[in-house]
Amino acid sequence: MTVIYSARWLLPIVSPMLEDSALAIDGSTIVAVGPRGEIVSAFPNSPIEDFGQAAILPGLINAHSHLELTVMRGFLEREESDFSAWLRKLTSARPAMTPEDLIVSATCGAIEAARAGVTSVGDSSSSGAHTMQALRRVGLRGIVYQESFGPAPERAAENVAQLCDQIGGMQEYENDLVRAGVSPHSPYTVSATQLEIISRLAIDEKLPLMVHAAESQAEKLLLLEGRGAFAEGLNKRGIDWDAPRISTIAYLQRHGVLDTRPLLAHCINVDDNDLDLIKQSGAAIAHCPKSNAKLGHGCAPFAQFVSQGITVGLGSDSVASNNTCDILEEARFATLLARLDWGSSPRVSKGPGSFDLSDGIVELPDSRKNALVTAEQALFAATVGGARALRIENRVGALAKGMQADIVVVDLSSAHQQPISNPAATLVFSSSGRDVLLTMVAGKEIYRDGRVSTASEEELRIRLTEIRSKFEGT
Ligand SMILES: [Zn+2]
Repeated sequence: MTVIYSARWLLPIVSPMLEDSALAIDGSTIVAVGPRGEIVSAFPNSPIEDFGQAAILPGLINAHSHLELTVMRGFLEREESDFSAWLRKLTSARPAMTPEDLIVSATCGAIEAARAGVTSVGDSSSSGAHTMQALRRVGLRGIVYQESFGPAPERAAENVAQLCDQIGGMQEYENDLVRAGVSPHSPYTVSATQLEIISRLAIDEKLPLMVHAAESQAEKLLLLEGRGAFAEGLNKRGIDWDAPRISTIAYLQRHGVLDTRPLLAHCINVDDNDLDLIKQSGAAIAHCPKSNAKLGHGCAPFAQFVSQGITVGLGSDSVASNNTCDILEEARFATLLARLDWGSSPRVSKGPGSFDLSDGIVELPDSRKNALVTAEQALFAATVGGARALRIENRVGALAKGMQADIVVVDLSSAHQQPISNPAATLVFSSSGRDVLLTMVAGKEIYRDGRVSTASEEELRIRLTEIRSKFEGT
């Protein structure tokens, strides 16, 4: 049966915004998008859901999350001044979680995402099969990247064998919505040999690959100078490290990772040469501005990613370093942060809404650095950009005939949003996930009117508190 959803505004993202518009959904697919009158007369017997003073837009894409770590929200804050201690505490607490605990924690994260209008995630997980079960339970779409660790090169083959077993276990949970991928965790936790083997595996088996890249100063010092907290950590474990004296991105290229067109999380410490390498390789970036700021890592050059036409989506990272999974809020933060120093540069003087986003490339003036990032560009990253980063843009990320019905309806009637002249700006600068009215994935409503329809939230919340008590005090 075809159902019509209408609202005052509809933002297809890949085509201009429509007023008093509607879309028609049949099963899991969008079958028409256009002015309300036209859609109603094309489907005269279909029920109409009218959301009034609201915006319908493509479901938001969280390009980098760690849903299994939802239970660690606020748990690592004493370690935030020392990233290496932060990671150590995280990895030593995680084994206390049983498989059921991991599913509960990831399910709570998936619920939080659904409530905030997120329909797809690019999730990095130590226990991929469990996270896939959580996504399926809540009804989210996503790629789950199974993490692989191992800084000692002599153990690379053994570690990759374990990864292959884990991928085998994940494949039984794959369906139309959820897919398995691989994640060699980072250049400081995975040896060059292991990076090479996993990259080969990803290409041969057509597995999407995600890696943390150019995130912290400690990583930069390790690669460029062979010193700092990560170097000391390797040294203590008796692992030889010969600093390559090149950037993270150049290192990933040298060891075959860029050949996989990877998803690179963070990319804070990148220079012009790195950005060229990223663009030429067809890699994508998951920009995680709030996590980067909370851990004091720095500010990734989002304006440059956008102006250079690099594929970029927005990611929350884990709620242990954010502390929310809210992509509208992430878009606001990304935009504001990108504007911090734009005033000293030539100003882009086009008015709001004047960018043509139809091909995803935004024209900027000659001086491309520090250009003003617009609300429209941030929304593009939160939807189409994220879909491209996860390589699912042929199915989701935009509202158009034939696309999957992954949509979000955001209320724009509240006091904190009035008055409205440009709905894109209202969405990015005045709204958050808390304004979401409806989240739909593949035509199925998973969140509506304050309730997630696919899981018992209260029961899960009690379980989450019990799990957290297991490692309080560690
Ligand atoms: Zn991460």
